Amino acid sequence: MIDGYLDVFLILAGAFVGSFITASAKAWPDWSQIVSGRSACAHCGQKLSPWELIPIVSFIILRGRCRNCKTDISGLHPIGEAAALVIAISAVIAFDGWATLLAVLFGWMLLFGALVDIRTFLIPDVVSVGLIPTGLLVTFFNAGQQAALMHAFAAIIGFASLAIIAVVYRYLRGREGLGMGDAKLLAAGGAWAGLYALPWIVAIGAGATLLIVAIGHVLGRQAHADSAVPLGPGLAAGCYLAYSLPSFVQQLN
Ligand SMILES: [Zn+2]
Repeated sequence: MIDGYLDVFLILAGAFVGSFITASAKAWPDWSQIVSGRSACAHCGQKLSPWELIPIVSFIILRGRCRNCKTDISGLHPIGEAAALVIAISAVIAFDGWATLLAVLFGWMLLFGALVDIRTFLIPDVVSVGLIPTGLLVTFFNAGQQAALMHAFAAIIGFASLAIIAVVYRYLRGREGLGMGDAKLLAAGGAWAGLYALPWIVAIGAGATLLIVAIGHVLGRQAHADSAVPLGPGLAAGCYLAYSLPSFVQQLN
């Protein structure tokens, strides 16, 4: 029964936590701004009423604009809220009991890192580096010492492969293409999902990033070789999918 309550709680909390995650990602690294978060319009300071703070729904009702000054509300809000909800629902389907909670926390941390990366082109170390020891601990308690060692090896391979590409790219092109944050994030993916997940994480990461570029292109934003598109959000999605998709597919069979 405890499982049932936890599942319902995670899904009900999902979009609201997403609201908090998005406000945190917009404030990062200045945490003091979170308190004001979405309680007032960022432009005119108009206090928001409770019905304007309902995740996803309020954004749709307000058509993405402040009721008072008509300034556009950042599209990050509905994206963050919907993503947090999708993470909660998919984890509830894929996992049982405490494994669900772990997967949801993993997904929400990745979501926070992805949103900060969209805004600043930096993935906070508290996400990428922080998820490496936690992933190894989760693996140790779930699958034992041997598996934890294999995942540690995967973290090293994950970091090294992207770090080498980043260094070579910088040497050949004379500018930053990949950040070390991406390499640390792939290391975290290895720590949680293991060696065989690495190529999937990179493939999903590249695919998702290309999709974002394509959508931007359709919306009229030309992608040039020089225009930067963060790889972090795609890699973060890859990390979560590589971790949860095998269990998800198993549950559906
Ligand atoms: Zn306003």
